[in-house]
Amino acid sequence: MTEIIFATGNGGKAREVAMMFADMDVCVKTLKEADIQADIIEDGRTFMENARIKAETIAKYTDKIVLADDSGLVIDYLNGEPGIYSARYMGEDTSYDIKNANILKRMENVPENERSARFVCAMAAVMPNGEVIETEGIMEGMIGYEIAGENGFGYDPIFYLPEFEASSAQITPEQKNAVSHRGKALRMMQEELKKRIQG
Ligand code: IMP
Repeated sequence: MTEIIFATGNGGKAREVAMMFADMDVCVKTLKEADIQADIIEDGRTFMENARIKAETIAKYTDKIVLADDSGLVIDYLNGEPGIYSARYMGEDTSYDIKNANILKRMENVPENERSARFVCAMAAVMPNGEVIETEGIMEGMIGYEIAGENGFGYDPIFYLPEFEASSAQITPEQKNAVSHRGKALRMMQEELKKRIQG
């Protein structure tokens, strides 16, 4: 069985990835499960640079396949904020109730046609032979006018998806996975890995 080390401390993300790889003969391990401790300095200027930095840093500690992702919310009206700083926006420990309320305040009175936004997810895998595979997924939407929904996490309650007439916190996890930035990036990555693992 091929082992994939997923460079994340986030158990939820690791489970999502493991679920998607369920039909392949692979075992997905988190850094903790692989007993790897490393300081990752996320100083890239793009989502992809950061995903690659994470994967390449961890690849120094193992000869297994290493997978990493970096994601965030890009709001056009705010010149791309919070972007690669999505997790760190207003401080890592600040609750999303506060972060989301702050964004809604900054978007107050902004007309509908200027509220476009997208979630972006970049994924990078480093293969044992040093090859790097990169995939990226995008979910387009708008910043809503209020906090809505209990599903999902992070900025989902303020991210409005016109095709669902709902926020991404109001749709089911299955619906979100089918259209989300992470779902798309992961499915593309899975295709690339399948070619290499299964010949
Ligand atoms: P990272 O990819 O773990 O560095 O964190 C990305 C950050 O972007 C998260 O902490 C969230 O704030 C935000 N984010 C990324 N994907 C989503 C999503 O699907 N829903 C809501 N927020 C997200």
